[in-house]
Amino acid sequence: MLNLEEKAKKQFNKSLKDASEQEIYKLLLDLVEEKSAAMPTNESKRKMYYVSSEFLIGKLLSNNLLNLGIYDEVKEELAKHGKSIEEVEEAEQEPSLGNGGLGRLAACFLDSTATLGLNGDGVGLNYHFGLFRQVFENNQQNYRPDAWLAEPTWLNKTDTSFTVPFGKFTLESKLYEIEVLGYQQKTKNKLRLFDLESVSGDIIKEDSIHFDKENIKENLTLFLYPDDSDRQGYLLRIYQQYFMVSNAAQLAIQEAVERGSNIHDLAEYVIIQINDTHPAFIIPELIRLLVYKHDISFDESVEIVKNVVAFTNHTILAEALEKWPIDYIQEVAPEIAAIIQRLDALIKEEYPHNPAVHVIDGHQTVHMAHIAIHFGFSVNGVSALHTEILKETELKNFYEIYPNKFNNKTNGITFRRWLMASNPMLTEFIDQKIGTNWHQDADLTKLLDEANDEQSIQELQEIKQSNKVRLANHLERTKDVSINPNSIIDIHIKRIHEYKRQQMLALYIIYKYKAIKDGHIPETPITIIYGGKAAPAYTIAQDIIHLILTLSELIANDPDVSPHLQVEFIENYNVGEAEYLIPAADISEQISLASKEASGTGNMKFMLNGALTVATYDGANVEIAELVGEENIYTFGKSSDEIVRLYEEDAYDAEGLYYNEKIKHLVDFIISDELKAIGNQENLHRLHHDIISKDYFMALIDLEEFINLKEEVYEDYENQEDWTRKALVNIAKAGFFSSDRTIEQYNDDIWKLEN
Ligand SMILES: *Cc1c(COP(=O)(O)O)cnc(C)c1O
Repeated sequence: MLNLEEKAKKQFNKSLKDASEQEIYKLLLDLVEEKSAAMPTNESKRKMYYVSSEFLIGKLLSNNLLNLGIYDEVKEELAKHGKSIEEVEEAEQEPSLGNGGLGRLAACFLDSTATLGLNGDGVGLNYHFGLFRQVFENNQQNYRPDAWLAEPTWLNKTDTSFTVPFGKFTLESKLYEIEVLGYQQKTKNKLRLFDLESVSGDIIKEDSIHFDKENIKENLTLFLYPDDSDRQGYLLRIYQQYFMVSNAAQLAIQEAVERGSNIHDLAEYVIIQINDTHPAFIIPELIRLLVYKHDISFDESVEIVKNVVAFTNHTILAEALEKWPIDYIQEVAPEIAAIIQRLDALIKEEYPHNPAVHVIDGHQTVHMAHIAIHFGFSVNGVSALHTEILKETELKNFYEIYPNKFNNKTNGITFRRWLMASNPMLTEFIDQKIGTNWHQDADLTKLLDEANDEQSIQELQEIKQSNKVRLANHLERTKDVSINPNSIIDIHIKRIHEYKRQQMLALYIIYKYKAIKDGHIPETPITIIYGGKAAPAYTIAQDIIHLILTLSELIANDPDVSPHLQVEFIENYNVGEAEYLIPAADISEQISLASKEASGTGNMKFMLNGALTVATYDGANVEIAELVGEENIYTFGKSSDEIVRLYEEDAYDAEGLYYNEKIKHLVDFIISDELKAIGNQENLHRLHHDIISKDYFMALIDLEEFINLKEEVYEDYENQEDWTRKALVNIAKAGFFSSDRTIEQYNDDIWKLEN
């Protein structure tokens, strides 16, 4: 008994049934803190710091209750007093401390590291408003600050503070922490978020994401990824990055010394995993601290740091590989710029005739990935295909120098959040069929025994149906959106980017709209759901959002089509929305242009929740297809080899494809009178022009194959027994994608921590 009723009386002087959701949330937060106080921490000599610009942790209440093992008990006690845990959850603000997959990965890794009992913390920044909150107005994306810091909060203020020396001033940081509770109370780790006391939301211009970019003392930790389309914004990004890594480095050194390090042996005490290149300045910062604070020679410092830092690469998109002009770094942190120049000199001396691997190029631009590869000891990609592409093309010059540094760590997701917390009905089904060992050792293959059991297949179908109803109720209650729970739920949720090809699915929607107008009525109605934010400065991505919202309105207002096809774009897609959407999905859209999606983790969440995947051979989709077999996934499209070749030979011809008669009328519908009557001319014409003249991410190359495949998928859906059997195989084979497996591999190959 948790005696929540008694606690409510004591704390609020009222009965649970009369307490507000907000009050109950506070009560449960206190309960978690009380219970977690007794949890052990791992005090091993060696400690891992996962340094990341993003931690997309989602709401914490349910996950913490679950990991403490009291979720069901809390739910039942609340229900007895007429309260729903789902509604209490809605009182919690979701921190938007991340942007997409990279940030969510960091959050799953924290959960797995603690659950495996390893000594490892996350380190990042405490952005007061996170990424922007997305709102739709006139079928366009708009931006609001996303406040999440109101009390009660999971964030604890500490006394820890460090001095960060910028060129023009120094700042004193303040450390905040969020506890990370391992499953079954295994280990308690921390997410450590640095902040500045002087930062103030008061400088934000009225409910927008605009503020004085030069006022570093007040703006430094306001937003994740502030607009960097001008010089001030660019400098602010460097201020943020240097502030983050200087704090992370000072913290790691201080704690190593407390555990007995004499600094010369730092690599025995500290491993720093950097999540993409945003934290790569930690390399020159560690060297600076060793040289100036600990009197170690430059050469020895470089050797020490080479054994401390490991780098995870997340992208092969050229525009996403970070580069900074050296004079900008000089302006923000001159000592760091000087160290980077010395590091560059070392490399130029060693590889004078290999400019592709130099740290500073001929335009005086610093390549962050190059620092991380030369001066770290490990470089990993995030899926088998991605790592191969790094070795063979993007980072070929480095692979030739350091073949032993390169390794693959296929991403994973924590099943505690993405199955146990988000899909209780499926969790119960699996527990009944194969027991509960999978909660910590995610092997679900025994479920395959159920494939020929009609009763089990029936049960799975009912679970999917219930999750659709649950989604419909959630959207009705929180977003005023109505969907048909008896329709096929077909979902494309992720950041809006041309390479993820939301526009290709939109062209399919146009195809389907026209087919229905021509009298080809689908047997079961179809609901296509999008979600995702676009970067503010990414014009074509805004245009794609506009196209989808405009199509959605056109279809909703057309009585010939709306009973059979609905298109919804869920506002402000985040972890909380994902937890409702994914369990309800019949179809998972993973249709990126082959070679462009490093791994994807959304694909894994859907598979685990029994959706069938429509996929290109990209990222971890390749590994999903290998695991489930071609008969249990719908793959299509050009191979990554072919796409890489097209780019190399500059041989892609969008215009040629556009003049195919099956394609032209679909693309031209973007600028049809019907659509322009609702939408904005400028957005629609710009997108149309871009697709027919450039289409850099090749939406047209796979379109015909995609349309044919989608028709096949919807037809297959009609045989519910076969469909659900395929879904079962997907669930049963998803064990490989547990982030516990990923973290075990990081630990075995890179971190080498004791548990
Ligand atoms: C998992 C997740 C992502 C990553 O999705 P991809 O399909 O892998 O790009 C992005 N945002 C949220 C909120 C997520 O939960």
